[in-house]
Amino acid sequence: MDVKLQEAKNSIRDIVDFPKEGIVFKDITTMLKDQKHLNTLVESLYEQYKNRGITKVVGLESRGFILGTVLAYKLGAGFVPVRKPGKLPAPTYSEKYSLEYGEDEMFIHQDALNSEDVILVHDDLLATGGTAKASINLISKFNVKDVYINFLVELDFLNGREKLDTHYQVDSLFHF
Ligand code: AMP
Repeated sequence: MDVKLQEAKNSIRDIVDFPKEGIVFKDITTMLKDQKHLNTLVESLYEQYKNRGITKVVGLESRGFILGTVLAYKLGAGFVPVRKPGKLPAPTYSEKYSLEYGEDEMFIHQDALNSEDVILVHDDLLATGGTAKASINLISKFNVKDVYINFLVELDFLNGREKLDTHYQVDSLFHF
């Protein structure tokens, strides 16, 4: 891995037992607060996706909004939020997904995407894959031209990639 990317990766902080016992939380705020790491992340992702004809970046609430919007701007694309319950004001499509305990649901505005779109889905982290899978299911309602999926961090040991079960290209900048 490129030295600058390795330094950015090293700056991600582990918080043990957050938000509950047994979880090692990957805290990216220690990476994002550093101007040179932020620059490295944005430039690296831009290089990766600049020639894919991306028309919209779909960011997943809430940490997917942070670089999702920056990437959309850099790529000359629009930005679309996928949100948690009770946040989007206009008519929505929704997808339920299972959490460790219980269920959650993700929403997208019904007029957010169209069949001409090439989508880049972005979130900070792929863990079990439930959130991303629900989001891919939401996007599938629009018959878009193509979908790329990107995470800053992928926790390989949780096999979230398998749960995504998608033919779309999935890439993560950092693997743990
Ligand atoms: P999942 O649906 O299990 O793939 O979880 C992904 C979502 O939960 C992402 O939006 C992450 O922000 C968050 N998340 C899950 N596990 C962690 C972790 N160990 N560290 C940081 N964020 C996490």
